[in-house]
Amino acid sequence: MSEEFLSEMRRKWVPIYILVLLSIVFITAHLVLNYIHTKNSMYINWLIPLLFLAMYILFSFSRLLKMKIPVYTYYRVIRCVKCGYEEEGRTEGKTYLFFKEGKCPKCSGDMVVVKIYKKKTLKGIAK
Ligand SMILES: [Zn+2]
Repeated sequence: MSEEFLSEMRRKWVPIYILVLLSIVFITAHLVLNYIHTKNSMYINWLIPLLFLAMYILFSFSRLLKMKIPVYTYYRVIRCVKCGYEEEGRTEGKTYLFFKEGKCPKCSGDMVVVKIYKKKTLKGIAK
């Protein structure tokens, strides 16, 4: 999922959520007013499913707003085959295990990739 896709989705859905929530507020006000005028409990009964609907919409709305994109950063550990000196750092990919990567700064032996791992971070998006 890309950042463009997420902000596109947000642009599309935020007005819809706001409209639906506003109409729920209007319907609620309408039902309450009708109840006050007519004392007919049917209007109050209709409020219950409406409240559940409002809760569900608020819940998915907040989920949409909190949505984040996972970003993976790759790291690799290189170790000198002669003296065992280790270095850790980020890598851009194209790295594989036992790949020779430069010379040891201590003894100028070959440095070999011994470990590759990735870290996941969550990135929010700008509006
Ligand atoms: Zn070394």
